[in-house]
Amino acid sequence: MLRRLRARQEPWDVLVVGGGATGVGVAVDAASRRYGVLLLEQADFGKGTSSRSTKLVHGGVRYLEQGNIGLVMEALKERGILRRNAPHLVKDLAFVVPNYDWWEAPFYGLGLKLYNLLSGKYGFGGSRMLSREKTLERLPTLATEGLRGGVVYYDGQFDDARLLVNLATTAAEQGAMLLNYAPVTGVTFGDDRFVDGVIARDLESGEELRCPARVVVNATGPFCDGVRRLADPSVTPMIAPSQGIHLVFDRSFLPGDSAIMVPRTRDGRVMFAIPWHGHTLVGTTDTPIPEAQLEPRALEEEIQFILDTAAQYLEHDPTRADVLSVFVGVRPLVKVGDGTNTAALSRDHTIHIDQTGLLTITGGKWTTYRNMAEDCVNQAATLARLPDRPCVTRTLNIHGYHQNAGAFGPLAVYGADAPAIADLQRADPALATALHPALPYTGAEVVWGTREEMARTVEDVLARRTRALFLNARAAIAMAPQVAQLMARELGRGEAWCAAQVAAFEALARGYLLS
Ligand SMILES: Cc1cc2nc3c(=O)[nH]c(=O)nc-3n(C[C@H](O)[C@H](O)[C@H](O)COP(=O)(O)OP(=O)(O)OC[C@H]3O[C@@H](n4cnc5c(N)ncnc54)[C@H](O)[C@@H]3O)c2cc1C
Repeated sequence: MLRRLRARQEPWDVLVVGGGATGVGVAVDAASRRYGVLLLEQADFGKGTSSRSTKLVHGGVRYLEQGNIGLVMEALKERGILRRNAPHLVKDLAFVVPNYDWWEAPFYGLGLKLYNLLSGKYGFGGSRMLSREKTLERLPTLATEGLRGGVVYYDGQFDDARLLVNLATTAAEQGAMLLNYAPVTGVTFGDDRFVDGVIARDLESGEELRCPARVVVNATGPFCDGVRRLADPSVTPMIAPSQGIHLVFDRSFLPGDSAIMVPRTRDGRVMFAIPWHGHTLVGTTDTPIPEAQLEPRALEEEIQFILDTAAQYLEHDPTRADVLSVFVGVRPLVKVGDGTNTAALSRDHTIHIDQTGLLTITGGKWTTYRNMAEDCVNQAATLARLPDRPCVTRTLNIHGYHQNAGAFGPLAVYGADAPAIADLQRADPALATALHPALPYTGAEVVWGTREEMARTVEDVLARRTRALFLNARAAIAMAPQVAQLMARELGRGEAWCAAQVAAFEALARGYLLS
């Protein structure tokens, strides 16, 4: 990638800053329209919010309650498109809304019927009422006192970081150039005083990269005001950041295949408990924060709020000692008014062009990344006077596309790549054994992530190429030395690199533990 970057003389048609769902989605869209695309990510692909979501491909039942029918319909349509284009990653999941009050069954029953109706031909399966017995059959660990029954509906679930890596690979296959560990540190201006490129740094070599472009797309999510300020220090901030946390428990807290959806917690939020990769994921919160951090930390009151709410709905109260991992993401919410109440802020996406010609796309959600990208590239092409070319991503298969990936067992999330990883395991049986008894990940996945998916650090492998850190932080720490050795062999690194990587990973992973 670096060689190709250095060899390029002419400006890039579209230069994308930020390698989250938004930026990588824009890179896929622009590259598949045959524009010349460069994407620069300051850390690893998905290091920001895009690996820290609730893992739902959904219309957002809450937005329906808020009356935002347009957003729900758009998201439901995108949910259907994504399931068609990445069937190896998007799964139908049953969600049960447990009813403890008499009015809940008719109220949520009707609302969820409407939710399903809005999805039209992109539906995931109808909603229906459940008796008390059927509710407990699906959710055997649900608190039984006062339980009357439930309403079941269907939505999508995915692995966010894996989809991101697959999208980055798709972009590369379509001709885009993507670099991780390359922060943009400045912008350049043409004679017309419009932004005409960026200055970035290759963090591994320290080399400064000067990258001219016809249009620069700022897709840095919660960090987008910082990049806007590189071009014009006087811009008015767009983002009111708000963080959401998730607690991860073992599977015994939610042993079935259904998720719990609590439409209204005591402070009016939606809360989910979801089976994910053999564990139970519970979240989330919505807490305004002064500034986005790359490694945000959970606040004590957020942890307590999730534990209390989970205890209300589960027969056995989860405790701090049961938490295997806690992870935090920052929402790039776009300000309206004074932006003090984040729950009321816009969840739609926003495209904003500053006077310098810098185009910023932010807001929205993972589920709508494709539609956001289409909108963004249409605007960027007009701004840069690129030849008009239609968007093709509605029917573009995402890397790894496979109709029956479930047959690959623990390698299912790799889709069409799974047989190649199984080949690595067959060629070297040492790569076939699990790196930790609590998790299914093997050395072959470390080798694959390093060779084929641009993993550069132990954290890249344990947090995003696999999901070890998010599922069980203690197990991930125990795996780090072996992961470092395997990566060092691939990258030609020595013992000092391994020691530094393990120490850095341990320091980071301690932030995912509660005590
Ligand atoms: C708690 C939580 C739960 C969510 N759950 C869901 C869900 O279940 N379903 C759903 O559809 N949506 C969900 N969302 C929303 C969704 O995750 C986000 O909308 C989406 O991930 C935002 O992606 P992004 O690319 O805009 O931002 P990010 O993923 O944050 O990407 C921005 C990237 O820009 C990089 N960057 C910053 N500055 C620079 C620079 N100077 N140079 C180069 N790179 C830079 C960062 O390192 C980062 O990787 C959730 C959000 C949160 C916070």
